Amino acid sequence: MARRRKLYEGKAKVLYEGPEPGTLIQYFKDDATAFNNQKKGIITGKGVLNNRISEFLMTRLSEIGVPTHFMRRLNMREQLVREVEIIPIEIVVRNVAAGSLAERFGIEEGTVLPRSIIEYYYKSDELGSPMVTEEHITAFGWAATQDLDDMVSLALRVNDFLNGLFLGVGVRLVDFKLEFGRLYNEHDEIQIVVADEISPDNCRLWDIRTNEKMDKDRFRKDLGAVEEAYQEIARRLGVLPEAGPMDLKGPQAMQ
Ligand code: 5GP
Repeated sequence: MARRRKLYEGKAKVLYEGPEPGTLIQYFKDDATAFNNQKKGIITGKGVLNNRISEFLMTRLSEIGVPTHFMRRLNMREQLVREVEIIPIEIVVRNVAAGSLAERFGIEEGTVLPRSIIEYYYKSDELGSPMVTEEHITAFGWAATQDLDDMVSLALRVNDFLNGLFLGVGVRLVDFKLEFGRLYNEHDEIQIVVADEISPDNCRLWDIRTNEKMDKDRFRKDLGAVEEAYQEIARRLGVLPEAGPMDLKGPQAMQ
């Protein structure tokens, strides 16, 4: 395989130059980090599974008219995506109290929220991604009011759709984080699209009957059976690679 130019390496993914202008290759690693990089580990097969899970969810979203950066899966660990200008704001949507919300307000984890709650975080590893308000976002020019309106309405559509989709496979969508990018068309018009990935790395997913955690919290909280949880989500969505666990090692990124 020809060497490709690496453009960016993040905690869980690598971005390479794509085959056409305006495209990128998104490579999924098995590396896992938590608590702003203080905890590091490997979840064997995670990259292979997240590549498939994210492909599946992004494809279903585009079928209902939610624009995303996803184009197609290339192989076990890579997908072709549109090059977008990433907006440095993470949007978290919450349906059930968990994680930092449960902690901050002293709400018992598992409490169903009176309505879906949206939060904004400024995307910065150095600062530990602080929570911000619309005032910060527009005053510092991270996104315009119109961008933010588009992001919130897309996030709510994604939430409604994914809630139903996961419910259908016996999984409660507790909360999730989305990232967005600006896509410029040939007339220089801007479209806001869902970027990054949607997977058990950035969603909290609980079994509907047992409330068992089936996401990255198993790694964050040392609950064990992390690989199995990711596999079970892929299996329920019908995207587990046929050859099973042997197929999950997949090729590693070229350095
Ligand atoms: P919390 O604020 O409770 O830690 O996270 C809320 C939701 O957003 C969880 O589903 C969590 O996985 C996701 N999330 C928040 N920040 C990040 C992040 O920096 N990386 C990833 N992968 N997910 C995040």
